[in-house]
Amino acid sequence: MLIKDSNWIKCVEFHGHECPGLAIGYKAALLAQELLKAQFSADEEIVCVSENDACGVDAIQVLLGCSAGKGNLMIRLRGKQAFNFFCRESGNAIRLILKPLPTNPSASKSERALYILNAKADTLFEVKKPSFKLPGRARIFTSLPCSICGEITAEPFLQTVDGKLVCTDCAAR
Ligand SMILES: [Zn+2]
Ligand SMILES: [Zn+2]
Repeated sequence: MLIKDSNWIKCVEFHGHECPGLAIGYKAALLAQELLKAQFSADEEIVCVSENDACGVDAIQVLLGCSAGKGNLMIRLRGKQAFNFFCRESGNAIRLILKPLPTNPSASKSERALYILNAKADTLFEVKKPSFKLPGRARIFTSLPCSICGEITAEPFLQTVDGKLVCTDCAAR
């Protein structure tokens, strides 16, 4: 392990390897925790809207409890190392965007990861405000069977074809 920190070890165990991307997410999660005074999100108090779907998102899942299944992790693909965090309770929100890292073409992957891990989080990221509002809470829909395949489908994904409810895939056939 590059650093002997129990949170980093948890992230690496979940992600599968140590890499600069995971280190970015790890640092972003710790800085968000500090700035929002937020802990692990047992329900969905902390919402993360990530602007990339890269390695760093895994560290945010592990450290902040934001996950796709709970509906408090969303990907808003913009190709940027930027993460938006919203705290439902306090209403506080921040956007962390990675500053350009010093470029050293001869640095290995683990050297780059170690640089990020040892850097002070507030020197790595610029702290801004999200440019959009907090997404609504995870919604629960009623589900009904598709009249063609019979598979139970959540209502927003059913459409009416010839007066019958049909799932998206059957409607496309
Ligand atoms: Zn990775
Ligand atoms: Zn169907």
